[in-house]
Amino acid sequence: MASDTIAGDMLAPILEVDTPGFDTRALQELDSAHYLHPFTDHGALRERGARVMVRGDGIYLWDSEGHKVIDGMSGLWCVNVGYGRASMTAAVARQMDLLPFYNSFFNTTNVPAVMLAAQLVELAPPGFKHVFFTGSGSEANDTIIRMVWRYWQIMGQPQRQAIISRRNAYHGSTVAGASLGGMAGMHAQGALPIPGIHHIDQPSFAEHGRGMSEAEFGLRAAGWLEEKILELGPEKVAAFIGEPVQGAGGVIIPPPTYWPEIQRICDKYGVLLVSDEVICGFGRLGTWFGCQLMGARPDLIAFAKGVTSGYVPLGGVLVGARVAHALVEKGGDFNHGFTYSGHPVACAAALENLRIMIDEGLVERVVLETGPHLKAAFGTLAAHPLVGHAESMGMTAGLNLVRRKGASMHDCEAFPSGLGVGMVCRAHMFDNGVIMRAVGDRMIVAPPLVMTTGQIDEMVERIRYCLDLTLKDVQQRGWMG
Ligand SMILES: *Cc1c(COP(=O)(O)O)cnc(C)c1O
Repeated sequence: MASDTIAGDMLAPILEVDTPGFDTRALQELDSAHYLHPFTDHGALRERGARVMVRGDGIYLWDSEGHKVIDGMSGLWCVNVGYGRASMTAAVARQMDLLPFYNSFFNTTNVPAVMLAAQLVELAPPGFKHVFFTGSGSEANDTIIRMVWRYWQIMGQPQRQAIISRRNAYHGSTVAGASLGGMAGMHAQGALPIPGIHHIDQPSFAEHGRGMSEAEFGLRAAGWLEEKILELGPEKVAAFIGEPVQGAGGVIIPPPTYWPEIQRICDKYGVLLVSDEVICGFGRLGTWFGCQLMGARPDLIAFAKGVTSGYVPLGGVLVGARVAHALVEKGGDFNHGFTYSGHPVACAAALENLRIMIDEGLVERVVLETGPHLKAAFGTLAAHPLVGHAESMGMTAGLNLVRRKGASMHDCEAFPSGLGVGMVCRAHMFDNGVIMRAVGDRMIVAPPLVMTTGQIDEMVERIRYCLDLTLKDVQQRGWMG
């Protein structure tokens, strides 16, 4: 068959970019012929062709045409220790030689899974003594829904089934993850959310805080949870789930009053509190888990991404005392699990990743050095004519592109939706050596935790240059107010 011949001829040159005859264009054609990408408009991708990433080292990536870029997004919020870590390769190879796979069903276990569970419990907030492993963040949140429902069944309150989440939250892309998430575009493409999942609005000061202090707004936004609990009937509400800082939703940093008030409301009605730490866990905010910074004491923690720095897929759930007691001491068999729960190679990768983070003091560096440096450097971008406001927390930051600046973030004039100024800006970043993500007209970064202060400056200067290019474009198109 013709397509087999093309693939056969091409395979050798494709594997190594240094091989003479490596053909990016042909690879892009194969890509668009066969590979369905996540969250992608394939018509648009076919026209441009996918960028082929071939190598990474530290905070840098190289594509097949030799362009070097700063990875401002840590892959996808995950490569916390940076690319090219030889000790990660060695740890994974060693485990593959010893025991590439065995399951944890049927009263068996494996060494890396046990060691990792113990290590995670040591790093977790007080009260967490148990871990359930999954293959991803979505599976972690699926597991959480099943655990929450099973918990209330064991506790003799099976009518507690409602789970409250937030608009514009991201909790994954399986049926459960997309339902928990508050992404309208995902819900619209199927019969989502599934029954029992309810959403309140997000604690975005920029969006909803006009006329209030940040502290007042935090209490107000948490109050939406209490209103929803009372509307549904407290005896029917099982859990509330939130990301400490909303990542994919656009780095939405809640006011400091928000999470303590959420905690108070959950306590008042006996509702389980779930912290989705898939992004905020493992140092992103300068703590091992984001809830520690936010003043929340969750019952369940979802993790993934940074636990292995993305080198091998792994996710899981840290189970707090209340739920663990019910599941372990009272519940008997919990009919749930995955083939790859506690995968030995993934757990070996996680153990080595955590060793690197601890030995290099990466979490402390975010607090003492890189986080404050990013805040100061990124903050200077707020003076740019195109930027309405810019904020950061730990090693993540976001800025809003606006049509007209105002005295406060609530007085800025946004671009009419549909112009796609964020995508224009993202394309300039991409072409000028820095990867930044666009969420509407909000531009966000979450660089590897190993990024040095000098590299932060380099990244911010490139961003500034690309903002200038974007401003020029926007002016030429007559889009400025
Ligand atoms: C990425 C993400 C998920 C989903 O993780 P996957 O590994 O992609 O399934 C869940 N929650 C949050 C907060 C995330 O950022």
